[in-house]
Amino acid sequence: MKGVIFNVLEELVIETSGMEAWNNILAATGYEGIYTSGDSYPDEELFALAAEICKVLNVDLATVIGIFGEYLFDQLDARHPVFVQQSSDLRSFLVSVDTVIHGEVLKLYQNPNLPRFSYRDEGDTLVMNYTSERKLCILAEGLIRGAAKRFNADVDISHPVCMHDGADHCQLNVRFK
Ligand code: ZN
Repeated sequence: MKGVIFNVLEELVIETSGMEAWNNILAATGYEGIYTSGDSYPDEELFALAAEICKVLNVDLATVIGIFGEYLFDQLDARHPVFVQQSSDLRSFLVSVDTVIHGEVLKLYQNPNLPRFSYRDEGDTLVMNYTSERKLCILAEGLIRGAAKRFNADVDISHPVCMHDGADHCQLNVRFK
C-alpha cells in the first residue's frame, strides 16, 4: 500500500482524536510511523494500524475502513484535484475510475496495485463489479460515498455480492435517487 494512504490515515486520526492518540496507536503496533507518499509499505502494516484504531475508537473494522474511505477521497481530491475536474457528474466520474483515473494514478505512483472495476448501466443504478486481491470493497464503498458528496449526488449504495462471502468479485450497486 502506498505511503500516501498511511499519510491520510494519520491525518484522520490526528484530526479526530489528536496527536497523542496517533502516537499511542503507533506505540501499540511498534511501527515507526514515517511514510513517504510514493513508497510502498506492507498491507499488513495498514491493517494492524486500522485494528489498533478500532480499539482506541471502540468501533469495528468495517466502520473504520468505511469512514477512512470517505475521508481518503477528500484528501486525494485535495492533492490531485484534476481527477475530479475531468468529470461533470458522479456517474461519469465513477465510470472513468477504472481507465482514466487509475491511468493517471499509474503515472503518479509506481506499482500502486489498484483494484479493477467493470460496469453495467441499469438505468437509475450503476452496477460496479470490484475485484482486488486485497478485498477492500468497504474502502471502495467509502470512496464512492466521498465522491458522491463531492459531486452533491444523492445515492444509495448496496453490496449484494461480496468476496468476503466467497464470491470471486464484489458487486456495488450505486442507485441514483
Ligand atoms: Zn465486498
